[in-house]
Amino acid sequence: MSDTIFDKIIRREIPADIVYEDEQALAFRDVNPQAPVHILIIPKKSIATINDLQPEDEVLVGHLFTVAARLAADMGFAEAGYRTVMNCNADGGQTVFHLHLHLLAGRALTWPPG
Ligand code: AMP
Repeated sequence: MSDTIFDKIIRREIPADIVYEDEQALAFRDVNPQAPVHILIIPKKSIATINDLQPEDEVLVGHLFTVAARLAADMGFAEAGYRTVMNCNADGGQTVFHLHLHLLAGRALTWPPG
């Protein structure tokens, strides 16, 4: 069984501020927010990194973005704008090895990221 901190959140073994859930995905607030809104959208399926994606995961990854757009609309920042980020491995800044899509909003985000 995979045992990242996000797997523990999926199994409700540790608390999280969950904002959305369906059969395939879970979304919760980042514990160390980098913007006024910082949500992590994760698949319930254990996939460590983008490098581990298989062709059969394409619909699932698309679903993570659909959830992001739905949250943006429901939370009222879709028109103002937002950023989605998925980090991969060390140089990408990935620290939790369960696939996750960052959803950042609530301020004007700068580019390029650090
Ligand atoms: P990454 O660096 O892309 O792997 O992102 C991992 C994110 O998970 C970071 O933004 C952390 O702040 C966040 N994080 C780590 N542990 C928790 C937790 N228990 N609940 C919510 N967010 C977490």
